[in-house]
Amino acid sequence: MPRSYVKEARRPVGRRRDRIRPIIDRLAVEHADAQIALTFRSPLELLVSVMLSAQTTDVNVNRVTATLFEKYRAPEDYLAVPQQELERDIFATGFYRQKAKSIRGTMRMLLEEYDGEVPRTIPELVRLPGVARKTANVVAAELGDAQGIVVDTHVRRLSQRLGLTHQEDPVKIERDLVKLVPRADWARFPHLLIWHGRRVCDARRPRCEDCVLVDLCPSSRV
Ligand code: SF4
Repeated sequence: MPRSYVKEARRPVGRRRDRIRPIIDRLAVEHADAQIALTFRSPLELLVSVMLSAQTTDVNVNRVTATLFEKYRAPEDYLAVPQQELERDIFATGFYRQKAKSIRGTMRMLLEEYDGEVPRTIPELVRLPGVARKTANVVAAELGDAQGIVVDTHVRRLSQRLGLTHQEDPVKIERDLVKLVPRADWARFPHLLIWHGRRVCDARRPRCEDCVLVDLCPSSRV
């Protein structure tokens, strides 16, 4: 289990229901440029990019996909080469054997069951080999129909520090967040927390003195 930040949230700052709107609004002003950092031109490229992004950085994925997507343009292309060739082409993203296997299995299912198109619903997306709920949530949100809230390491940490959840498990954290965050904000909310986490609310040394949420945050150190 990764480190917990639940116990840091000790200051009385009011009910989470009353704080969520100003939290979103202030972060939206502060991080107006917050958006997905992966580069893609189609739903298929989005899906592959998100699958490749497990356990590595978005910058690294973009570096690999810049050439990958010139070679692999349709689901058939991923199946037209031996698995070892695909493994070589995605090697730099790490865990390349498992990722190549998942991508090929996913392409097969797309062709057999979805006419080669990327499905849009979470239940359909999580049926694809190697596609977990987090990946499905990212894809659905970026395709314009968020059906949940992406919980990554930053979203987990900030939700705990901001006292929006007392849970540790990402699935339970998401359950708390979807009850709290207005549906219209489901897609951008994780991006706001991720960018705030990267720029201000660092895991080890949060810069509370520079944070726009200081009066709304039960974990503030100033
Ligand atoms: S940086 Fe902001 S969000 Fe993070 S703990 Fe400090 S006040 Fe809270």
